[in-house]
Amino acid sequence: MPHTETVKLIPNTGWDERILVCRNGTLVNVFIVVTARYVVIVDTLINPATAQRLVDYAQTYLPGRQLLVINTHADYDHAWGNQLFAGPRAPVPAPILAHRMAAARLGAPETAQELAEMQAKEPAIFGPVVLTKPTITFDTALTIGGGDLTLELFPTPGHTPDHIAIYVPEIRTLLAGDAAELPFPFAHTADGLPQMRASLAALAKLKATTVLYCHAPGETGPRLLRDNLAYFDALEAACRAALAQNPGLDPDQMDDLAAALNCAYADVTPRGGAWDEVDSFYRTEGHAEQLRMMLAWLRASGQDQA
Ligand SMILES: [Zn+2]
Repeated sequence: MPHTETVKLIPNTGWDERILVCRNGTLVNVFIVVTARYVVIVDTLINPATAQRLVDYAQTYLPGRQLLVINTHADYDHAWGNQLFAGPRAPVPAPILAHRMAAARLGAPETAQELAEMQAKEPAIFGPVVLTKPTITFDTALTIGGGDLTLELFPTPGHTPDHIAIYVPEIRTLLAGDAAELPFPFAHTADGLPQMRASLAALAKLKATTVLYCHAPGETGPRLLRDNLAYFDALEAACRAALAQNPGLDPDQMDDLAAALNCAYADVTPRGGAWDEVDSFYRTEGHAEQLRMMLAWLRASGQDQA
């Protein structure tokens, strides 16, 4: 699906009015949090033009407030608009806060390679992108005292190693980033899978009443956190059963992994509603990829011997 520079404001369906939700095409939702002291842009979208749209939406709140920027992680849909805020010719200078590993990822050769590939495919969108690192990084926790609202930033690795989430205790609101997604978040390595499930469990424990996600349009509550956890628990049970019956199972040599493991998407996801409406990718390849990752993790951690 080609990318777009359209960024729309999503109508508020009940969350605190100090949070604006902005949507880039059908790709990703990002946030603007307006506190007494700061206007905080959470994620910078895919290029400088889309980041500028966020600044446009933030503009009316900026007089008398400092602008801050956060990257929940360094993926292209969250951090490739950073150059608007940092660098020698940044048009809207502002501190960019992120986990230390987000800076490392933005400086990594693989990210430069990914950018080059996307520039070749969609030069109008990605041609202008200059990978730009966050300017203030942390390892374990960082708190922003906004005056009326407090933003608590903390690591939630798994989807990526640099991922952070943000909790606003005064309004019991969690910005989960990509730590949870509809119908499920992806870990990119087998190691990331247990981390991702631990992060989901930690987020569910916060007992937030409002939870906003980057890839779960329409979801504003904590239920998705529990549903994501339930999905991975059911997936693990199916994989353990399959390994017990067939210890020589090679996940890479089965054409239809879900069928071979007798673990269909519909069997391990909540029934009805949004889960039936997700893109078919999630029900087929996406679900098979999750099975492959779960088997790889069980095998690597020696749990297939148990
Ligand atoms: Zn994302």
